[in-house]
Amino acid sequence: MASTHRTHLASISREAWRLIDKLLLPAANLPPPVDLEPIARLLGIRNIRFKPLLSDAGLALADGGYDIIVNTEAARALPDGTVLAAGNGAWSSLAEGLRFRIAHELGHIAFLKAAGGDRNDDLFTTDEQEVEKACNCLARNLLLPRLGLIRELGDHLLNLEHVQTVINGFQVAAEVFILRFKLADVRSYFAGENAILAYVHAPDGTPRLRTCQIWGGIARERFDIAYRRTPGLESGLKIPKKLSPEYSEQHWVLEGHPVNDLKLGIDLEALMRDNRSGKEDVTVEWTGGSVLPCRCQWCSVTGTRRQLLFIHVSDSGPRKEETAG
Ligand SMILES: [Zn+2]
Repeated sequence: MASTHRTHLASISREAWRLIDKLLLPAANLPPPVDLEPIARLLGIRNIRFKPLLSDAGLALADGGYDIIVNTEAARALPDGTVLAAGNGAWSSLAEGLRFRIAHELGHIAFLKAAGGDRNDDLFTTDEQEVEKACNCLARNLLLPRLGLIRELGDHLLNLEHVQTVINGFQVAAEVFILRFKLADVRSYFAGENAILAYVHAPDGTPRLRTCQIWGGIARERFDIAYRRTPGLESGLKIPKKLSPEYSEQHWVLEGHPVNDLKLGIDLEALMRDNRSGKEDVTVEWTGGSVLPCRCQWCSVTGTRRQLLFIHVSDSGPRKEETAG
């Protein structure tokens, strides 16, 4: 029974992913941000309604379809009683956090459709946590579709200003942008680069790598594999137990750690605390007496004490350390 159940959720989650991909296709060539309204209409959404709720958002039956209900306590929510019909362009003014909530609810509808519309399907109770996680992944896909993301980044992944323009263009939080690269369909894209892009948050004053993405073999070796040899530190690919492989996510060992744990040879924490944006060329230790030249660049993003950090490994790779004299 248990394995049949697992297969059931895996096939429904795969179906939900495919449905979202299919709905994104007609607008694949349009510039960002993704217009969620036509997608919502095709999924049977009638309106977004703002009401006081116990949870952040939810769904309600409406006119043979659904309404998305958003809690008036949510950040940048509109006043109680506000109704935004799907299809008249009113959703375009919603703040990025609300767009994510709405995309998450669209993920729920995709799951429901994939389950044949059966709201009583066991998976919505026994696998609630897995489905919630999956809907966050679907929201990332909806807001940052693979084709659009790759097209907009072009050859400029390593240009922090360009990356910020792309993040703003898609109207997503910087964290959502980085998390998008953990998913299977875009993970190996840009594997020819050697770089880290991290979202750094310092709620307690210590800038920490909240989430990051590492591209390229040299960067992975220096900033992940080398640390993984330390007992107690884990990372790697997290395969969702019951969901299909589309939802698997790459995790990196230093996520959650203070930025100085990158061991760049400079007090990056102090630099990032004192300067909202900046740049430093560093040479970090590499194996066998070699060093790895890197360029660090950071800038602030929306919200207090939130920054993006880029570490670009020099194209020339590791070199023997020059000894003075
Ligand atoms: Zn949910």
